[in-house]
Amino acid sequence: MIQLQSPPRKSLANRDAAVIWHPFTQMKTAADPIGIARASGLYLYDEDGKAYMDAISSWWVNIHGHCHPHLIQAITSQIQRLEHVIFAGFTHEPAIQLAEKLLALLPPGQSRIFYSDNGSTAVEVAIKMALQFWYNKGIARKKVVALTHSYHGDTFGSMAVSSPGIFTAPYRDLLFSVDFIELPVSEAQVNEFERVVQQPDIAAFIFEPLIQGSGGMKMHSPSIIDRLIRICRDNNVLIIADEVMTGFGRTGKTFAVDHLEHKPDMICLSKGLTGGTMPLGVTSCNSHIYEAFLSDERQKMFFHGHSYTANPLACAAGVASLELLLAAETQAAITMIGAHHARFFSEIREHPRVGGIRKQGTILAFEWATGQDTSYFNTIRDTLYDFFLSKGILLRPLGNVLYIMPPYCITSQELDYIYSTIKTALDLF
Ligand code: PMP
Repeated sequence: MIQLQSPPRKSLANRDAAVIWHPFTQMKTAADPIGIARASGLYLYDEDGKAYMDAISSWWVNIHGHCHPHLIQAITSQIQRLEHVIFAGFTHEPAIQLAEKLLALLPPGQSRIFYSDNGSTAVEVAIKMALQFWYNKGIARKKVVALTHSYHGDTFGSMAVSSPGIFTAPYRDLLFSVDFIELPVSEAQVNEFERVVQQPDIAAFIFEPLIQGSGGMKMHSPSIIDRLIRICRDNNVLIIADEVMTGFGRTGKTFAVDHLEHKPDMICLSKGLTGGTMPLGVTSCNSHIYEAFLSDERQKMFFHGHSYTANPLACAAGVASLELLLAAETQAAITMIGAHHARFFSEIREHPRVGGIRKQGTILAFEWATGQDTSYFNTIRDTLYDFFLSKGILLRPLGNVLYIMPPYCITSQELDYIYSTIKTALDLF
C-alpha cells in the first residue's frame, strides 16, 4: 500500500497563495482566503476551529447544510457500486431515478431530462436545444431574447444571454447578438416586448423566474412573467426558465415556475439540485422540444454531451437531496424562514440605511444606502463582508445589495443572531 505523505503543516492560505487562482477574485488585492477544514450543518470551521454561519449556502448550493448524513450515505453507497460510466449507449439507476423524481415534481408537460455539469452548462444546453429545434425544422429562427439585469452563467453562450455589463465586457464583441429587454412595468414596455418577440427570427426567450439573482436580487411578480410567457406562446417563441438559483424551495415553492400560471418549455436546474455536494446540471424540456430531435437522420440528434454527463454519484446525491427537500421537516423550515424574514423585513424597512427591501421565500435582500450608486463595486461591500466574518457570519453582498439565503437547516435562534448582527451593522456603517 502506498503511504501518502501529509504536506508540511503550513496554513492553507500560504500554500494557496503559491498555486491557486480563485473565481471572481482580484488576486492582487484580495485578502487571504479563509482555509476551511471541515463543515457541519449551518457551520463552516476554519483551520483554527473558528465557526462561520454559512448564510449564503456557499454560493446558493448548500440547501440542507453541510455534510448532511443522508447525502453522505447516498454518495458513499453509490461509489461502492458504480462511480461513473459513459452516458451515451449506457444508462444507470441513479440517473433514471433522479429524472423520474424531477419530472414528477416539475410542472406538467416537462417530459425529458438532459444532464450536464453546472448552471452555466444547463443554460448552454437550453439555448442549443432551442436553436437546434428551429434548425431541425428548417425554420430560420436564430435570435434569443433576454432581460436586462439577467445573469445566466460564465460560459460563452450563457454570457451572451446575460445582461451586458462588467462581467462580460472583455468578451462582448465575440458574444452572439441577443435582444435585451427591460422587465416591463408599464403597458408601453409590455408592448415593446411584444414588438420584439413578434420578429420572425426570434427563437427563444430566457429569464430567471421571480428573482434576478446575480443581477442584484431583483424581484418581480409572477403575473408579469405570466404575461410575457403568453406573448411568447402566441408568437411561437420557445420559453426557457433559468431556475438555477430559484429551484428547490428557494422561493417558498419547489420551483419558482410553480408560482406561474403559464409554464415554460425548458427549465434549467443546478445549485441546490445535489444539496451542494456534487456538480450537476439539468435541462428539462417538454415533448414539443424533444420530438423535434427524433428522426431517421442521425444529423438531427442533439449535439451535446460532457465526459461527466449524469455522473452516478451526482445523480445519487440529487435523489437523496430531493428526499430531504420533500420531508415535512424541511418544508416546515422553508415556511419558518419565510415567516422570520417577513418579521425582520418589517423591523428594518424604515431604517435610513435600508433601501428597496424585498423578500421571496427564503431570500431577503435590500440595498445598503450609502450615497454611492447601487453597483457591484460599491465600496460598502468589503466593509460589510469583513464585519460579518468578524462576527462569525458568511454574508457576501453583491456590491451594496445585502441578501440572506440560508440553508434550510438553520434554526430561528440562528436567524435571530444574523438579523441582530445586521441591525448592529446598520447602526455602525
Ligand atoms: N443561472 C443563474 C440564474 C445563476 O444564478 C447562476 C450562478 N450564479 C448560473 C446560471 C450559473 O451557474 P454555475 O455557477 O453553476 O455555472
